[in-house]
Amino acid sequence: MAEATRNRTVLVLLDPATEVRSSVLELLTIARSLGRVEAVTLEAPTVEALAQLSAFGVETVHQAELAPATQGDARHLAPVVAATLAAAVRLTDADVVLAPSSFAAKEAAALAARELGAGVVIDAASVTEDGDGRVVAGKRVFAGSWDTTSTVRTEVAVLTVRANAVVPQPADAAVATEVEGFAVAVDGVVPTVVERTPTVRDSDRPTLEEAAVVVAGGRGTGGDFGPVNELADALGAAVGASRDAVFEGWFDRYVGQTGVTVAPRLYIGAGISGAPHHRGGMQASQVVVAVNNDPEAPIFEICDFAVVGDLTEVLPQAAAIIRAHKDQ
Ligand SMILES: Cc1cc2nc3c(=O)[nH]c(=O)nc-3n(C[C@H](O)[C@H](O)[C@H](O)COP(=O)(O)OP(=O)(O)OC[C@H]3O[C@@H](n4cnc5c(N)ncnc54)[C@H](O)[C@@H]3O)c2cc1C
Repeated sequence: MAEATRNRTVLVLLDPATEVRSSVLELLTIARSLGRVEAVTLEAPTVEALAQLSAFGVETVHQAELAPATQGDARHLAPVVAATLAAAVRLTDADVVLAPSSFAAKEAAALAARELGAGVVIDAASVTEDGDGRVVAGKRVFAGSWDTTSTVRTEVAVLTVRANAVVPQPADAAVATEVEGFAVAVDGVVPTVVERTPTVRDSDRPTLEEAAVVVAGGRGTGGDFGPVNELADALGAAVGASRDAVFEGWFDRYVGQTGVTVAPRLYIGAGISGAPHHRGGMQASQVVVAVNNDPEAPIFEICDFAVVGDLTEVLPQAAAIIRAHKDQ
């Protein structure tokens, strides 16, 4: 992406700052195309995080100094993050706020936008500017059937951006990154965390929501996700499923309108018919590959590459070729 020419301050939310995920590196890449990049965090960035922020052109990291009641786990709750974002915008006079499209960040972005009187776009797939310098967000709506463009007309624009919107690119030259504290007061009822159960990840695979590549299996797997896992591992992809496969007890998370919405660069659906409820959660993917032994399967109507065949043969062959290619 081209570097910005405008004198605009873009504030990127780092939460958590202990791990700068790929989705945040994407935000920083977009931020540089819009203006000068600053970041806001609710905890001290690690040395590794600071090195990445410096490589991605972040000049200043504003670290929230919270009252004791909103420290600890409570600092990740939406009202606290929202108050932090709003205070950081006022402190830095930021024109644009970019946050990831996690459920927590979306809620915080909406609350902060209300507090600031700012225009808000949730789940943007692209962020650019028009000839008048106004921020323009593209997003796919109505289960992936419409592409829309929204121009933010308020002074401050708050956007959450879907993972895989751009390829992360470090700045041409690293900058010296400063960390500066600033006081944040959370008005109203201070939330309390009663119980917290972290999700234990049992594999190195990327998360379904943020993965650049997703391989999903459906009822056509007959319950054997071995070929789906094999292809996912060859590609470094996340694994997903159709709801029917999950309801059969074959996998734990499904893609779709009532499941996880994904928009990876590449989505491979194997043994999935392509029911409207499933499409609603993956149709915004950039490239869709479908593997199905029924040439009339509805998923073939919306895919970019159709493979008519038995997934137990096609997926292992594809995985073997990808592994051989990687070994070259
Ligand atoms: C309110 C509601 C909400 C829903 N929300 C969701 C949702 O969010 N996500 C979702 O996924 N579903 C959702 N559903 C269910 C959805 O309508 C479909 O029933 C479901 O997506 C079908 O799953 P499937 O494609 O795995 O199964 P099927 O429709 O049974 O398709 C299986 C496919 O596998 C193919 N196949 C069989 N054997 C092989 C083989 N060896 N190799 C290759 N292909 C093979 C078949 O040709 C077929 O096309 C919802 C339903 C309702 C009512």
